[in-house]
Amino acid sequence: MGGEKSCGSCTVCCTALAIETPGLRKQPGIACVHCTSTGCGIYETRFPICRTYFCGWFGLAELDESWRPDRSGLLISPHGAGIEFLVLGGEAAVRRPQFLALLARMLAGGTPVFVAVPGPAGHYPARVQINAPLSRVAPPSFGDAMAGLLKAAKGHRFEPMPP
Ligand code: SF4
Ligand code: SF4
Repeated sequence: MGGEKSCGSCTVCCTALAIETPGLRKQPGIACVHCTSTGCGIYETRFPICRTYFCGWFGLAELDESWRPDRSGLLISPHGAGIEFLVLGGEAAVRRPQFLALLARMLAGGTPVFVAVPGPAGHYPARVQINAPLSRVAPPSFGDAMAGLLKAAKGHRFEPMPP
């Protein structure tokens, strides 16, 4: 059986996310100054926001190693009362059958699901809740719907995060 999950060489959350706390501030898409090729350089004294961040891959026991964010191209985080998928791996990530199956289960279960598409480095992502739009789509067409959403996001006016 597989062992416990570990970040390994993944540093996705330390790069992709915006962090806006009194102790640590960093822009989305830009690696934290403490991030090294082997993980956090100040791990023992890292900030409260880093200690409490809930990485969905860690939190959802059903997600195997293929879901680690640097492999799946999807960073799963809480968003309000729901779940957000930050799509870093483009169309391949949102057409992966494992993702589409999880998405179908979440939507059927009534979980609020958000999809976020990164903009240029330093800008907040485009974010949309997909429960209502996907309620009009049959599950076999979810992949096409998600690919369409990624294309539509290209026209989004991404808002820069203040320095
Ligand atoms: S995204 Fe998840 S797996 Fe990757 S470094 Fe962050 S906590 Fe670890
Ligand atoms: S302090 Fe460490 S854990 Fe926190 S964002 Fe920076 S590299 Fe990641």
